[in-house]
Amino acid sequence: MERQFIHEANMQIRSLAVFPLLLAAVLSVAQTAPSTSSSAEFPKQIPNFDLTAIDKTVDPCVDFYQYSCGNWMKNNPIPSDKTRWGRFNELDEHNLYILRDLLDQAQAPGKHSAIQQKVGDYFAACMDEGTVEKKGTVPLQPEMNRIASIKSKQEIIPQVAYMHSNDIPVLFNFYPIPDMHDSSLTIPNLDQGGITLPDRDYYLKDDDKSVETRQKYQEHVQKMFELAGDKPEVAAAEAKTVLAVETGLAKAAMDRTERRDPKKRDHTMPTTEIVALAPNFDLTQYFADNGSPKFTSLNVGNPDFFKAVNEQLNAVALDDWKTYLRWRTLDSYAPVLTAAFVDEDFQFNRKYMGGQKEIEPRWKRCIRSTDDNLGMALGQLYVDKVFGPDNKARTVKMVQAIEQAMHSDIGQLPWMSDTTKQQAYVKLSAIVNNIGYPDKWRDYSTVIVKRDDYAGNVQRASAFEVKRQYNKMEKPTDRKDWSMTPPTVNAYYRPPMNDINFPAGILQPPFYGMNTDDAVNYGAIGVVIGHELTHGFDDQGRKYDAQGNLKDWWTPEDAKAFEQRASCTADEYSSFVAVKDDKGEVHLNGKLTLGENTADNGGLKLAYMALTNIIGNTPVKPIDGYTPQQRFFLAYGQIWCQNVTDQQARVLAITDPHSPGRWRTNGAAQNSAAFQEAFGCKAGQSMVRENACRVW
Ligand SMILES: [Zn+2]
Repeated sequence: MERQFIHEANMQIRSLAVFPLLLAAVLSVAQTAPSTSSSAEFPKQIPNFDLTAIDKTVDPCVDFYQYSCGNWMKNNPIPSDKTRWGRFNELDEHNLYILRDLLDQAQAPGKHSAIQQKVGDYFAACMDEGTVEKKGTVPLQPEMNRIASIKSKQEIIPQVAYMHSNDIPVLFNFYPIPDMHDSSLTIPNLDQGGITLPDRDYYLKDDDKSVETRQKYQEHVQKMFELAGDKPEVAAAEAKTVLAVETGLAKAAMDRTERRDPKKRDHTMPTTEIVALAPNFDLTQYFADNGSPKFTSLNVGNPDFFKAVNEQLNAVALDDWKTYLRWRTLDSYAPVLTAAFVDEDFQFNRKYMGGQKEIEPRWKRCIRSTDDNLGMALGQLYVDKVFGPDNKARTVKMVQAIEQAMHSDIGQLPWMSDTTKQQAYVKLSAIVNNIGYPDKWRDYSTVIVKRDDYAGNVQRASAFEVKRQYNKMEKPTDRKDWSMTPPTVNAYYRPPMNDINFPAGILQPPFYGMNTDDAVNYGAIGVVIGHELTHGFDDQGRKYDAQGNLKDWWTPEDAKAFEQRASCTADEYSSFVAVKDDKGEVHLNGKLTLGENTADNGGLKLAYMALTNIIGNTPVKPIDGYTPQQRFFLAYGQIWCQNVTDQQARVLAITDPHSPGRWRTNGAAQNSAAFQEAFGCKAGQSMVRENACRVW
């Protein structure tokens, strides 16, 4: 089942790279013959600094990304089971092999710890395709029968509550968030939701590509209903209904860029108020049925959504609502059912939408499923294997060095008054650093895992996670709970927590090497650390104070100066082309990607300052023909080496707040005087922006 909470958590955290898609990304070396031994063969070690990636036929001052990554891109085509392939994916793949080894041991007969037993049984059940095929649609049947037995519109909302408690996204979303005005307390949050395609735009836009996507989507929904046993003509009508219902939900939804502003999602109200605003939702019944604790007030992310859809609940026929509920169930169950369902799910979601040619081998999908559903248990085994105390100690030292650089950077800002600077220091010193893995491991002992029941395992683990999330409501905020599992190749900042988080999965080459020179480590993981720190001060983060409360700590003049500088960055990135193919040219959305681009530019500056503090300005002998300053920028450019399918690039341009690798590299380099100095770039060259954008 799709993990609803991953998507929802994603709205509340600022990650380094797109999260759900990274979970489904991976490699070329791995396509050698499958290993017959119990442990998988590891792909090559990933170099921190890759001389062979560099394209020396290009002038670094003309196109630095091409210079850093040109040969890498040429030599690393997208594997047929991926929609994109970059350095993140190389490491993600490397981690998969480590996890495969751990899971192979855990699933083999022998004496195991309780954790090994659980993840081993889970993995084994997922790998047992024979049993999955034999069961056919049996796991789906009780769910479909439940919906079939609905006799009146009053029964729709209890069904939605039931589906939510099993982590099946439908109609709207409900999840815990720290109170925006008192982050020490976690409260319930009710929000828009219920669509299947990746963004509301897909339902509302009239360009050729959007029209085609809706047509393909409808065909996909029809095929899925047919697989579930419906006649073709019935299934075709059902697909039309699904699209109509979801279009209604999309129309009522707030735009993704608008949602970046937390103030637009800030509507705390007594429960009675939202109940009265949207009486047809019968939210009193919903709250009573969904398994959450009792509460009398909550936040509603988009009250207009509930007002608008309230009418739709009346206008749409009961049978059509039932069709929609069945579809959301089918869509969620597809990945855990037989090959026919898995394949149809792949054909639309990966092949058509993402341009992926082949599905990933089952063992990789089963590892991702284990990570999704028992990730903190699997992560515990992973950390024991790869992440020692010296990794942690060296990362802590780098984080401190970069925080110090940020302190001096704030001190030197020409556009900020001392009054605001004092507040910025307070926020900076309050940032909590979480490195590698959580202090306390999650306890999965109540999740029942059976070796012959894959769908049941996923359902029980999903219900456990929903319950765990609901239990956070009406309690002091749990700041120790991580939003990503330890093997994840990513990092994140949480505005309401004011913390930066680096899972063990990213603290490896090419981001970080124990025996690599400082210049390279600061250019790679150093910039990542600086990026996360800067999120606390980007267009979104700056609206939260040191405690993570939505509170203005800026003088009006300084806020205005910030907005001016940020709009320079937004305009810069809006001018970049994300994808150009036979369906036309798509530009980046500078406002959607503003926070990430601000973090990239700030991160590059801060990590460079920290490096300079260490090596000083005295000349150091070049390594491989590059000065430390050049190695720093090349290491930065090289973490973003990637190839992406045109289809995937289109989806990301609409949905991803991050810019593609080319623009993460060149966009920041164009604004960096230190970069231009390191490579001797001159005014008039492409990598020297005439009016450089600078926030932090
Ligand atoms: Zn980020």
